[in-house]
Amino acid sequence: MAANMNREHRLDRYIRQVRYPPLGEEGQRRLGESRALVVGCGALGTVLANTLVRAGVGHVRIVDRDFVEISNLQRQVLFNEDDVAAQLPKAIAAAKKLRRINSQIEIEPIVADVDPTNIEGFCDGVDAIVDGTDNFEIRFLINDVAVKRNIPWVYGGCIGAEGQTMTILPGQTPCLRCLMQECPPPGTTPTCDTAGILAPVVNVIASIEACEAIKILSGNRDAVSRHLTVVELWDNRIRQVDVSALREQVDCRTCKREDFSWLAGKEGSRSAVLCGRNSVQLTHPDTSISLDELERQLKDVGEVHRNPFLLRLRVEGYEITVFPDGRTIVGGTDDIATARTVYAKYIGS
Ligand SMILES: [Zn+2]
Repeated sequence: MAANMNREHRLDRYIRQVRYPPLGEEGQRRLGESRALVVGCGALGTVLANTLVRAGVGHVRIVDRDFVEISNLQRQVLFNEDDVAAQLPKAIAAAKKLRRINSQIEIEPIVADVDPTNIEGFCDGVDAIVDGTDNFEIRFLINDVAVKRNIPWVYGGCIGAEGQTMTILPGQTPCLRCLMQECPPPGTTPTCDTAGILAPVVNVIASIEACEAIKILSGNRDAVSRHLTVVELWDNRIRQVDVSALREQVDCRTCKREDFSWLAGKEGSRSAVLCGRNSVQLTHPDTSISLDELERQLKDVGEVHRNPFLLRLRVEGYEITVFPDGRTIVGGTDDIATARTVYAKYIGS
């Protein structure tokens, strides 16, 4: 009897979503027994974590490498000015809020820079991965692990007033590499620090991602979208691109040939602290960067100096020097995670 009362009490908070027939009590029970990994706890990640925790996902693991800054508050819904003053890591600040929202579930914050050496550990035991990152290198890494270990994952990304999302069910639907065979080279895609970002599009994309995760975790995979969804809020356009044929059409290195090159560390940036220089060097094998293009993107962001051999951006107290062969030196820090954060913000990936 007591156990029954307890169960009913535990379900009380979810009663409105339990009444939605496709979810129901059975779906809620499954959600409560499931584990989700939120990679990145910035704009998308805070909305994702907030939604999954409130929905009653049993265990939510949140990984982020960054600290809360004042410019985050415009869109990163779990943070406030106290977190900025305390210079809290985002994962820790998020977990503090989330535990006050739902004390009945496990919330596991991890402050770390996701890379090929640690991502498999973060994925241990999870039933779904949601993308709260801001760069394609980590997305391709997530894609490798997800396909290798057969874990569903939801891709999402936003810039300006535009965003896109796609759900990957390994073995059933196209993967990220089926969609885009190579990671966009650094400097070719705008970042939210160069092109700006509006909070509403983040909320839309993260909400779609969270709903997809809820479908997966509650045992409703049939309801998962088979489309790439593209939302442009300023021009009022929403498109659904049918990607179901991609798996057949593309000779995908990841899901057809099982070549997990990102996970093997063969792609993406390599980093090294430059001794005594308070600088970190990041290199991207097999990459070339158009300094002209980069100059155009960065000219309003900070102080840009340019010659035929390099481009130098001074911003936020850092000096970022980019060479056409993809090599970058981030001056003003000897911390690799900080350098990668600065790189992702301004140069992108
Ligand atoms: Zn694929």
